[in-house]
Amino acid sequence: MGTSNLCASAPSMADDVPVPDRICELLRHFYSLGWCTASGGGISIAAPDRSSIFVAPSGVQKERVSPEHVFSLSTDCATVLSGPPSGTLRQSECTPLFAQVYAHAALPAGAVIHSHALETMVASRMFDQEFRSSPSGAFEMAKAFPGYANSDDVIVPIIENTPREDALANALRAALLAYPCAVAVLVRNHGCYIWGETWGKAKTIAEALHYIFAAVERLHVAGIAPVPAGSFAKTPCAPRARMRAWFMDRKVDGEEAAAYVDIRAANRCAEDDRLISHGELDNLGVKHISFTGTEDCEVLAKWKKTRGYNYSDVITCSREGLGEKYPAMIEAFKKEHFHDAAEVRAVLEGSGTFLSSLFFRKFLYCIVCSLF
Ligand code: ZN
Repeated sequence: MGTSNLCASAPSMADDVPVPDRICELLRHFYSLGWCTASGGGISIAAPDRSSIFVAPSGVQKERVSPEHVFSLSTDCATVLSGPPSGTLRQSECTPLFAQVYAHAALPAGAVIHSHALETMVASRMFDQEFRSSPSGAFEMAKAFPGYANSDDVIVPIIENTPREDALANALRAALLAYPCAVAVLVRNHGCYIWGETWGKAKTIAEALHYIFAAVERLHVAGIAPVPAGSFAKTPCAPRARMRAWFMDRKVDGEEAAAYVDIRAANRCAEDDRLISHGELDNLGVKHISFTGTEDCEVLAKWKKTRGYNYSDVITCSREGLGEKYPAMIEAFKKEHFHDAAEVRAVLEGSGTFLSSLFFRKFLYCIVCSLF
């Protein structure tokens, strides 16, 4: 446990240690665990009244950060409230990621831990779209997660890495919205973002999660509970947007459909919705590509021509992109409507969730697509 004094003082809700001091203490502890080495990883803690958040600086070795190095920021991380003298240090590169978790996690976050531990990186390579504990069986440690029993499957979405840490922000936000029950998001070949209501709860969740990652890896290597070959990441570190789809063997309409439009209200992990592969989607006639370009770009024109589509619905899935039309459009999406011809839905900005009912071989498929 290194020089940390965490062993002597158990985490409590009433924390009388100033947040900057607590951040330094935890960084030393996480450094000793291998979560924050080689200047990677970090932690952010919100002020007790949630009026501001605290982050460590970039460029200072984690075990050497002292309280006067710690920044206090507005809750959106846009404004520096206090910190080291201007020009001497910069805030952690993780700051935009911490801001996404504080803003969008369904489980309210009071602290966010970013781990570069080896087991988090390996876990990100063992699965294609989401880490699952189920191939290895049940873990007692799952009880560390809010609302989990020791028989529950621990699911952690995986997003693709980017050359710079701050460029992960959009994909992280999309994962937070698509997995409202998540307490962590893995970044391929990189590490993991983990959060909790308090720094103590975030630390407990992070310890349990590192244990489960390591357990799945060891059981796989020992041949005791191998992870199925099809689970492994097929495109590690692909720098492109991702689409995920879930299958529901029931018709979804009315209030439930509206809940899926407001994805934060959906509780997918508690249901039996099954993540389906891109190959299965292709077989259902839902083809997809990722491209860089505009509404009239060559890639999209060629795609429409080869597939015989006359119409394309070009979407900017963000409050910023839609402007004043945003509330009306979201309201319209809550009502079931029909498209009588096949079409392209080209998403140029942001992310979103589409609920589609498809008839295929006399069966009705309800599919939720989330764009990362
Ligand atoms: Zn990192």
